[in-house]
Amino acid sequence: MNIKNSVIAYQEAVKHIPGGVNSPVRAFNSVGGNPLFIKKANGSKIIDIDNNEYVDYVGSWGPMILGHAHPDVVEALHQTAMNGTSYGAPTVIETEMANLICQLIPSIERVRMVNSGTEATMSALRLARGYTQRDLVIKFEGCYHGHGDSFLIKAGSGALTFGTPNSPGVTKGTASDTLTAVYNDLDSVLSLFSQYKDQIAAVILEPVTGNMGVIKPTEQFIHGLRKACTDNGTLLIFDEVMTGFRVARGGAQELLDITPDLTTLGKIIGGGLPVGAYGGKKEIMDMLAPNGPVYQAGTLSGNPMAMAAGLTTLKIVNEIDGFYEQLEEKAAFLAEGIQKNLEALNFPGVINRVGSMFTLFFTKETEVNNFSDVMKCDTDLFAQYFKLGLENGIYTAPSQFEAGFVSIAHSQEDLQKTIDKSYDAFKQLLA
Ligand code: PLP
Repeated sequence: MNIKNSVIAYQEAVKHIPGGVNSPVRAFNSVGGNPLFIKKANGSKIIDIDNNEYVDYVGSWGPMILGHAHPDVVEALHQTAMNGTSYGAPTVIETEMANLICQLIPSIERVRMVNSGTEATMSALRLARGYTQRDLVIKFEGCYHGHGDSFLIKAGSGALTFGTPNSPGVTKGTASDTLTAVYNDLDSVLSLFSQYKDQIAAVILEPVTGNMGVIKPTEQFIHGLRKACTDNGTLLIFDEVMTGFRVARGGAQELLDITPDLTTLGKIIGGGLPVGAYGGKKEIMDMLAPNGPVYQAGTLSGNPMAMAAGLTTLKIVNEIDGFYEQLEEKAAFLAEGIQKNLEALNFPGVINRVGSMFTLFFTKETEVNNFSDVMKCDTDLFAQYFKLGLENGIYTAPSQFEAGFVSIAHSQEDLQKTIDKSYDAFKQLLA
């Protein structure tokens, strides 16, 4: 496989960019080798600067549910840019976006747009603290909520991949306000509630995890969390930056039938541009400036380009009849195909899937339901599989601890190729 141009581009990049990348998960540190520099993408395909083409399951880490360069999104961006790219004053499209989000996710009565998922979770936590007048937050081992100080405690995604789930630079004071519990273990949460009575402002979680790989909550866990929060006057925050408009039209909360107090969004609602949002009950959201005393602001918040790409994307997923059913069918076909390969070759692995999010865990366990199961994975075997994927034209996240994403643009041919190549790769790894 020729990646000569990517190798040169990386050598240039490291001269002035730390690690050569603007987000650590893009580096290939955990799998070894040179990150691929991308030239363009279209539909389900991504093409590097050496003209290698891959079926893409990263999808910009989640946003590209329609596939890359969807013509309607590109056209909306073009039209918007012609009128200027930012005004720092209200625009009608922001209201349209807010209306559609509130319509599709009924727990959100008011929503504030920000510029990233990180900003959304940081702001939601500040709001929860302001509203409850309490300081502590419970998060779960292996869940990732962006790089805000409060969340870089036992964090997932890149923090886990690079072995820094607790980052230096986070003050002891901030760290001590974050309590950690075990995902899918309600008792670990209840014991924190009894130890820190009336002090916990919020419980935040990925309602379906993606950042330690895909794990679904048990009914008992997720319903128990809702009840514990209600009983203790604590806000339940669903971080749906990844799952929002991904696992169902109304997000994980629709799938799981749980009403959180606050929800954070990002990725898909930006249609590939930098966006985040947080929203929830009117009574809580009214605490925000300019209505209330909790301050949060942004020069580019609600940016017209980001709103144009995001709103166009949301309208399409909302208006296409059977959009999520089609996506489900595609992702199920892929996951079942890989599962059959695992069984046929007796290859040690577990594939978890919720809607169009999936993770293939390289493990001898028969199930992966929590962080300690995830930690038993064979990351070396993953790295070898990952490299074979690239050689075979399949682009997946360069870490075991991530989700893959199927888009509506993935064709039957793409999915079948991926299944066939996974069979060949498993066989090669067994040899
Ligand atoms: N929350 C979740 C669940 C995420 O998956 C991510 C990013 O992957 C974030 C928050 C942070 O979002 P961003 O990278 O846009 O800051």
